[in-house]
Amino acid sequence: MTIRGGCHCGHIKYECIVKPDPESGDLKVFRCNCTYCQKLSTTNLHLDGPEDFKLLSPASKEEVADYPSKMKSVNRYFCATCGVHVWMQGSFEFQGKTAHLFVVNLSTAEQPQEGLELTGSKDEPWPGGLV
Ligand SMILES: [Zn+2]
Repeated sequence: MTIRGGCHCGHIKYECIVKPDPESGDLKVFRCNCTYCQKLSTTNLHLDGPEDFKLLSPASKEEVADYPSKMKSVNRYFCATCGVHVWMQGSFEFQGKTAHLFVVNLSTAEQPQEGLELTGSKDEPWPGGLV
C-alpha cells in the first residue's frame, strides 16, 4: 500500500510504499532504542529501501535539514521550519555486518487515510496542531 505523509507545516511531503510483514500482515514498525529515537519517542516504519520513498516536496532532499549520526552513515531528516522529524536513512555496522536502514516516522503519516488508522481514538485533532 502507498502511504502519504509530511511534516507539520507542509514543507516536506512524501509518499512511500509499505509492504506488510508476509507472516503477520502487520506493518513493519518498531520503537528504536537509540538515544535519538528515545528522545523523540518516535515509532519507525520500515521501508524496503530508498526506492520505496518518494519525496514530493521539496524538490530534493538536499533542501531538507538533516542531523547526521555520530557514525556519519545515517542521516535523520527533519523540517527546518516546523521541526518535525520525518525520516532516517543510511547504513551502519552491526555484529560484523552492514545493515541498511530506511525508516519513516510513522507519526508523520497523514490522518485520516484509507487503510491506516493511527490515532486509536475518535478524538478530533486540535485545529492547526498547536495549542
Ligand atoms: Zn515543516
